[in-house]
Amino acid sequence: MAGEKNDVTKAESGVRYAIEQGYQVSPSAIRLMVAFMNGQGREGSLQPLVATVIEEKLRAQGSISTIKEMRTITGEDLKKFVPDVFETLDQELNVLADGNKFARADVAATNVEVMSDPTQSAQAIGIDGFAQLFKSRYEKLSRILKERPEARQIEKISQINNHKGRSRVCGLVLSKRTMKNGVELVLDDESGRTSIFAMKDEVVKAAGQVSLDACILVELEGKGGRLIAHSITQPDVPNRVAATSKKTAYAVFLSDLHVGSNKFLQGAFDRFLVWLNGRGLHEEIDDEILAHLKYVIIGGDIVDGVGVFPNQEYELVETNIAAQYDMVARKLALIPKEISILAIPGNHDSTRQALPQPSIPRKYAEGLYDLPNLRMLGDPCFVKLNGVSVLIYHGRSLDDVLAATPGLSYERPAEAMKILLKARHLAPMFGSRTPIAPEADDRLVVEQVPDIFHAGHVHSVGIERYRGTLIINSGTWQGQTSYQANLGISPRPGLVPIVNLATLEVTLREFLTSNDGLVS
Ligand code: FE
Ligand code: ZN
Repeated sequence: MAGEKNDVTKAESGVRYAIEQGYQVSPSAIRLMVAFMNGQGREGSLQPLVATVIEEKLRAQGSISTIKEMRTITGEDLKKFVPDVFETLDQELNVLADGNKFARADVAATNVEVMSDPTQSAQAIGIDGFAQLFKSRYEKLSRILKERPEARQIEKISQINNHKGRSRVCGLVLSKRTMKNGVELVLDDESGRTSIFAMKDEVVKAAGQVSLDACILVELEGKGGRLIAHSITQPDVPNRVAATSKKTAYAVFLSDLHVGSNKFLQGAFDRFLVWLNGRGLHEEIDDEILAHLKYVIIGGDIVDGVGVFPNQEYELVETNIAAQYDMVARKLALIPKEISILAIPGNHDSTRQALPQPSIPRKYAEGLYDLPNLRMLGDPCFVKLNGVSVLIYHGRSLDDVLAATPGLSYERPAEAMKILLKARHLAPMFGSRTPIAPEADDRLVVEQVPDIFHAGHVHSVGIERYRGTLIINSGTWQGQTSYQANLGISPRPGLVPIVNLATLEVTLREFLTSNDGLVS
């Protein structure tokens, strides 16, 4: 590569065109043109780019400039008139040329343990799989519920129907119907099903928080031929103290890059990469963070994908999926190699759409697999970073939770994530927007309570603490799309949560500036 960098013949098509038009080309412009042509998969002529620069230069300069200024194309011209190509390239080159400012402490101490990853997983087993899936879900969640103090003497639904006095059952919520004086729930266990009525205000409220197909414990009493619920209990997570790293180590949480989209905020993302290398925004105040930054976690929607929704091609700058992954790989290659990167897929990525999602196959994302410090995992996956457990999940089902739960909004995604923790399931609602694979084992049950629960998908940053778990939604690097505009959703891009794993304290850093042309 070093030899290639000086190979000025690569800039020939641009230089020749400029001269034909009566312009000279400065060495800095030649350097950028060569760097551009050295980019992955670059072929063809620089003529269209140089033509754009000349056109814009004429328009901008008018009659006041000197002839010499007017007649020389400089590196500054390229950066000014084609900023999304050359300004970015220049930043990348500076990072590469200067190397990393920080000697990161305890480099060898990066400690990633993958506790579970659905990539090497059971195959989906056809339509019969759903019966097995729900059986597995019921078994796992009822086991968690039975550990709760309220769970004394749980009876089977088939035994309860004509029961007098109070009793307790545990089952999956098959349906939920609001009536004028309460809510009717249909509950199902391995023995049968029954209708239960919530009439008291607090029980009606609890019923409202319960997701369809979730597992709950109900204390009930037969009255006037009906079973009336006295209380509804979700599996929930116990109140506890999270594990922390013995040494100071920072993890950065990202998601929803959507590279390939014409709304990908390249400028902001480049500023973030420059920052990771100890330069640019926040550099002075973040010496401590940058010196101990060990992990970058990417929670899916790495690229915008191809054919994800109708007419998506009009919103893409790159319509080839492998080329989109190459674009990301070129960016992530700028992350210092001592930092460990973990990446899972989202619903825009090229892998099975049904949850759990295996990692993105190598054939689509060669460039990412070639990065020595990046590890591709499935969605969801459970890892430990310096002993701190992290559940990484893209968050597709948050759409369903937000649609079904009164009082929630896209601006406060951590609230919706809390609902998943309480249900101890990442996608309780079946048959809505979240496709789920028919497998014998329900791996979307949150069996281990994580110290950090990370998701994305909602494109809005949210941080919350719930019973010892730090909940993080990591926002996005994509500006508002027309789809989101129609739905009235305003994303919050370019804001990055950084966690000190020794304390679980969160620092937020902003990488959006007025240059990005967004009103925030
Ligand atoms: Fe997304
Ligand atoms: Zn998504």
